[in-house]
This record gives sequence, structure tokens and C-alpha cells, in this order.
Amino acid sequence: MHTPRRPFAVLGVCAALVLSACGGGEENGDGTAVPVPPDPVLTPVVGSVMFAPTPFAGSDGADHLVYEVSLTNFMRTPVTITGVKALDAGVDGTPELLGLDQADVGERLKPTGAPSVPPRPGVPEGYSDVLAPGQNGVLFLHLKFEGAAPTKLVHEISVRADGAPPEMRETTERIAEVEVNDGVVPVLGPPLIGEHYIAADACCDAVRHTRAILPLDGAPVVAQRYAVDWEQAGPDGKIFVGEARNPASYRIFGDDVLAVADGSVVASRNDLPEQVPGEFPANLPIAEADGNNLVLDIGDGFFVNYAHMQPGSVRFEPGDRVRRGEVIGKVGNTGNSVAPHLHVHVMNGPSFLMSQGVPSVTDLFTITGRVAGTAAFDASEGTGVPLEMAPGVTVSTQQDRMILDQNVVTFRAG
Ligand SMILES: [Zn+2]
Repeated sequence: MHTPRRPFAVLGVCAALVLSACGGGEENGDGTAVPVPPDPVLTPVVGSVMFAPTPFAGSDGADHLVYEVSLTNFMRTPVTITGVKALDAGVDGTPELLGLDQADVGERLKPTGAPSVPPRPGVPEGYSDVLAPGQNGVLFLHLKFEGAAPTKLVHEISVRADGAPPEMRETTERIAEVEVNDGVVPVLGPPLIGEHYIAADACCDAVRHTRAILPLDGAPVVAQRYAVDWEQAGPDGKIFVGEARNPASYRIFGDDVLAVADGSVVASRNDLPEQVPGEFPANLPIAEADGNNLVLDIGDGFFVNYAHMQPGSVRFEPGDRVRRGEVIGKVGNTGNSVAPHLHVHVMNGPSFLMSQGVPSVTDLFTITGRVAGTAAFDASEGTGVPLEMAPGVTVSTQQDRMILDQNVVTFRAG
């Protein structure tokens, strides 16, 4: 009969070894200590970071990390995640970078499949702080920091399992360690030239792109992690004037779309019809979600996807070389689009779906205001009312930063 090996520490190995090994390490031939691994700890919830994040500078003056932790409940009973800390594991003492209480977790943990418990006040639809037995969930995290970026993260997850054996009812686990990616963040030119462009559904806590996780080819991916939906207002603060169902009523419709860097075209589409604004098209195949799009390979493993352009306006085909600032098409309303806008995202592969979204920064832009929030943006885009703006935003010209959610910017040619 096979006898399973018992954990190292339980075997009483110390007695058989030199005494120094019992104090924390055996000695190598060169006299250096070999650390004894700590005893494994039962963790009712297991987890890992889905895609190593890359730090970047945001237009709010802070540096940021955006990533997801996949959590799975291994218990036969439901578990409640009562708190999460993100710690800097590369520094002695593992200082806390982010602390979420149970209510915060309820706004950031999205159980896979159906919600584990009925909706309750304060918890957005589709989110929950509870994972059912065996259930997986994705915890969407956003860290802000100043100074040097952490090199390694680890997460302390507080778990309550009321139906578990007494010793497992309240646990704090240290899981989901990840090396922070110290790679390059591409510096890009503007995708449009003009005033009053709004970075809608942009980084870092807007849900429609940052949390657009898709199960593709057997893996969860977030190609749109850092996508922006560029919209435009007139001097009157209105996104459209006139007939809401006519794409030409929208300020941005027909604006020139520019290459944000030199590159070569790896995919493009030019034949899909304009949709009627005001509602998303029904039964659209996923391959047509981006409408008339263009994917530009800008080198160093980075690709830029432009979506929803006007039929017949896309000027380049796969294999073509494009220079930064060249017009590649015109803003339209094709594919899965509810109003004319330009969707742009940077990713680590040529497929606009089956890639991971990666951060980028814009080399020069001027912030002239900020929309009060996503609800104010949706009201303006949906009904034509002027944008409600956030108070107290000062005009600032910035370089090499990511334009964050709901900022209104001017892009100049040059
Ligand atoms: Zn979009």
C-alpha cells in the first residue's frame, strides 16, 4: 500500500539532521543557510493574479496598478470575503497598499456565473462578497501609489465560513503573490485632434471596459482593460444635437481617426453598416463587435485596436505601413455601439478579443474639465442634455500620462 508522505515538519526531521537545520535552515556546502519552507496552511479560498500588472502614471498625478485576482471557494459551504489587503511583498514588513472592507469587496468581487446570493442594498448587480461552494469569482483591484512602484504584490484575504468546522470559520489567508511587470509602457500620440473629447469608460474603476472579462479559447482575458470610448461635446456641452437616431447628429461623427504611432496594419474591416444610435444591435456576432476596426502593430509586442469606424472610411489593409498622425478612418457607429464614438485600446497581441489589455500613456494633452461621472455621461449621450461637469477641475497640460475616466481633453496637431 502506498503511504502518503507527511509534511516535512511533521516527520520530525530535525532530530536526524544537524541542529542548525532545526533553527530555520540546513547548510549548503558553501555554508549558506537553506531556508526551511513554512508549513502549508489550509486556505479555504485559493487565488491567483490573472495577469501581472504594469504600473503607469495617470492624469490625476498618481501612479496606478490595475489587475484582477481570481478566487475560488474550495469549501462545501458558502464563504464571505470580509476584507482584502494588497501588500508590497518586495519590502520588509510588507506595507499595505490597499485595504478593502467587506462593503468594498462587495463592489469589486464578481462571482462567475449567477450571483451567489440574492442582491442586497449597496451591492451592485452581478457583484457579491459571497462565493457559493465551489464558486469562482474575479476581484477587480486598483492600487494607487506614489514613488517607486512595488516589485511584488501579495494579498491578505479575510474569509468567514459560518458552516465550516470551527477552526475554519474565520481565516486570514496570504495568497495570490505576483511579480509586478516592470516592462515598457508605450508613449502614444493622440487618436483625434480637437477640443472637448471625453475619455468615457476609461481607467480605472469604470466597469464597462476595465471589467470586460471574456472566456476565450479556454482562458479568461480582458482585452479592453484600459480601453477608452472617445466621445465629444460641443461648446454647449452637448454630445448630440437634433435627431438622436441619426448618427450625423453626434458631434464626433465623421471626425478623423489618427494613427497613435508608426506601425503596420495587421487587421482591418471596412464593410459593416452604421447602427441606429440609441440601442445596441441585437444578435451581433462577437467577431463583428468592434464594427469597422483596424489593428495596428506598433512594435515591442504592443498592438492598438480602433473600433466602430464608418463603413468605407478605413484607409488601410493588413500589411500596410502607417505613420503616426496619419488618418486611418472616420468615427462611426458600427458594431456593438450605442452612439457614435471611437473605441481605442492597447493590447499585447493582434486579436482585439484574445489579447490582454496593457497600459499606455499619451505624450501631450490638455485637460479642460471632467464630467461628473458615468451617469452624467450616459445621460448626455443618451438624451442630449448638456454634460454635468465635476467642479474645481483646473486646466492642465500634461505629458506622458494615461488620460483617466471622464476627463475632457484637447488634442493639438503636431
Ligand atoms: Zn468601447
